[in-house]
Amino acid sequence: MRSVGCVIREGPIACVIYAAKSTEDRRGSIPGQLRECREAVESAGGRIIVGEYSDEAFSAFIGSRGPGLAEAMRHAQELARDGTVELWAQHSDRLARGDGRSARHAVEVALWALKNDVRVRTIQDPETFRDLLYAVVTGQRNHEDSRRKGLASAAGRRRAVERGDYTGAKSDGYMRVVEVDASGAVSKRLDVDPARRPLIEMIFRMALRGKGTAAIARAINEAGWQTKPLIGWQRPKAWDVQSVLDVLNNPRYAGLAAHKGEVIARGNWPAYITEREYYRMTKRRSRPKPTKTPRKRDTFLLARLGKCGICGSSLHCFTDERRSDTTFPRRYRCWSHSRGGNGSPRCPSLPMDADLIEAMFASTIHRFLLEGKEDKTMQAELATFEGAWVDSPERQRVLDAVLSGDKAALDHALEALLARVAPEAMLLKRIAASSWMGRQLDLVHSVESWAADKLASRTDSSRAKTRELNADLRTRFSRVSVAMDGRYVDIVAHRRASNTARNDERRIDARFDRREARRYLPLARRSKPLHRLWDDAEIIASLQDWAAAHGRSPKCTDWSRASWDRPDDLTVRRHFGGWRKAPRRAGLKPDGREYDHAAPRCYKQWSTSAVVRALQDATRAAGRPPRSTEWFRAAPDHPCSTTVRERFGGWTAALQAAGLDVH
Ligand SMILES: [Zn+2]
Repeated sequence: MRSVGCVIREGPIACVIYAAKSTEDRRGSIPGQLRECREAVESAGGRIIVGEYSDEAFSAFIGSRGPGLAEAMRHAQELARDGTVELWAQHSDRLARGDGRSARHAVEVALWALKNDVRVRTIQDPETFRDLLYAVVTGQRNHEDSRRKGLASAAGRRRAVERGDYTGAKSDGYMRVVEVDASGAVSKRLDVDPARRPLIEMIFRMALRGKGTAAIARAINEAGWQTKPLIGWQRPKAWDVQSVLDVLNNPRYAGLAAHKGEVIARGNWPAYITEREYYRMTKRRSRPKPTKTPRKRDTFLLARLGKCGICGSSLHCFTDERRSDTTFPRRYRCWSHSRGGNGSPRCPSLPMDADLIEAMFASTIHRFLLEGKEDKTMQAELATFEGAWVDSPERQRVLDAVLSGDKAALDHALEALLARVAPEAMLLKRIAASSWMGRQLDLVHSVESWAADKLASRTDSSRAKTRELNADLRTRFSRVSVAMDGRYVDIVAHRRASNTARNDERRIDARFDRREARRYLPLARRSKPLHRLWDDAEIIASLQDWAAAHGRSPKCTDWSRASWDRPDDLTVRRHFGGWRKAPRRAGLKPDGREYDHAAPRCYKQWSTSAVVRALQDATRAAGRPPRSTEWFRAAPDHPCSTTVRERFGGWTAALQAAGLDVH
């Protein structure tokens, strides 16, 4: 769309010219139409062009063209207020070819022109807009023409699809190859686009491994890929669920030719996946998702308090599926974990087991509530009593008793101090009994006793108590940030300012080592440790514990699921380079022989010479070197194409290394 600008006119008639193409303008039709209009305007004489507009890839048959026509009409309408104005186009079907229902009819343009005092001039059918009746007739003919052409080309497309030719837009990952044979006949075919191949392979590789569309979109966006627009004026954009689905649902990638969504033949182009893989994935996606049984939401000590220590957003309290012991695992999860779908980035924070986090929080509640308070509140009031008693042991005993929360000791200490200096002892008694500090100590006790009960069982009364404590904690703390990595849990409590001393919101940090989860038993025993890091010494200790308890070394199948006291077998293999090496390191005899055979196929290692041999064998069998797309997935007799490329730096390099003819 291009506007040459407004001109204030006296003599010449203002002209707005417009050109359009229903599909992508590959052959320069739009500049041609504009040139034709300019020449016609010039030869008509006494006219000046004040605006040029165009639309590309907007149909007048299924819609009413695009923003260019709307702008052109608006511009003409504005100019018409000052004098004569004309809207020029090559043919009336550039302006309208609809039936009046789903798209604009030529007579509508004629009526608009009449109402707004705009003249519409078309070069190839100048009669059309002279008279409303002409507009009706020509408009009808334009519509019929389009319909007939559409039907004819649809039938032609179907025949082409039946022959296995591609039709329509080429898909991402393919490119058009035009060839002229000896007799001069031109043939077009699709071939794999080497620049986009890694992307399409990555999408299918993830999909075949059962990854969801959102995860795929996120991964390819992170790898720096963007979509490839089909039409010139569209811009590349980030991948989302829909664009990934468009690739996965397109049978073309399986080498299948489809017409109007129906697969009717095999295509003459290389496939990215096999037909079986395509139908398997389609079936899996179309399968109805199992409806989730509603879960009873459990109570959380840090509800509406917890914040993600990494990104600062709220922590969701999440009740998980029921465990075999009929309890429900509870998790704190960063908000972005549940809302970060559809390809957008997620905070790297891990879901956290609520039992463990709450036990850690409860174990340190006295610090979170009291740290920094002991000197401030008390010493401010005690400062007025400076005297001989300041260093007295009785005074220290009272302070110690207040901090430790031991009521009996406090009574004794107060008695002793009262005997020594009556006024100060009275004050201390008042502080201990009714002050802010006293209330904090109450809360410390109730959280600690709650934690002890909570570990034993989860009942309705303990849930009520949790809600009560949660409400209380929310008056004391503004937020509690929790961050967890493989080894540590960091809790930062932000304590609200107290009544006696304002403006002293205070943050208290505490760090917990997750290897000490045993300290929070029996709670830790019940919860599955989420994303724990193990070091070799710990694994060896767990192997020895297990062997002592069972009277034999564990088999890898015994450790297929991780538990609070041991990692799963994959972690063990990764640490020691194989399952059987682990018990030996722990001074145990490996049990049986089965697990070396139980190793999954993905552990097969291809030596460079084996890859070369596989390439040569495949060439001998097929009479030509294999294409990388044919080796997209590994098979027993060859590795996958990625392995080959990684080993040799490229597919062609691999073929050369195997001494094969590249062309
Ligand atoms: Zn977060």
